[in-house]
Amino acid sequence: MNTLYCAKCGSTDVQIMAWVDANTNEYRGDVNDPLELKDCWCETCKDHAELLTIRLLWNRFAEIPVNNDDEIEEPFLNFEAGTCKFDVWHWFDKRCPHNLYRDLMYIGEK
Ligand SMILES: [Zn+2]
Repeated sequence: MNTLYCAKCGSTDVQIMAWVDANTNEYRGDVNDPLELKDCWCETCKDHAELLTIRLLWNRFAEIPVNNDDEIEEPFLNFEAGTCKFDVWHWFDKRCPHNLYRDLMYIGEK
């Protein structure tokens, strides 16, 4: 669940700028640094990117308006406006360790 995704395209081919000890190659960055302070790069977009976990992406998707035909009204990742929301759910489902319902939709109902 800690996998990071590009907030623009949903790719996991992403990199993060970090400090490495020049002598030992040991990673010296503070893992607790807020992600938004780090320089992130998406290899798919070939651009600087915001990285989000699947849960944060799901929260963001929850803000996308959906019409009465279950079509999203704004683009989300590589899904264009007008895409059936279930197609997007499927995208999430494929990336969840268990499944969409268990991992994202019913958080707190353990
Ligand atoms: Zn990207």
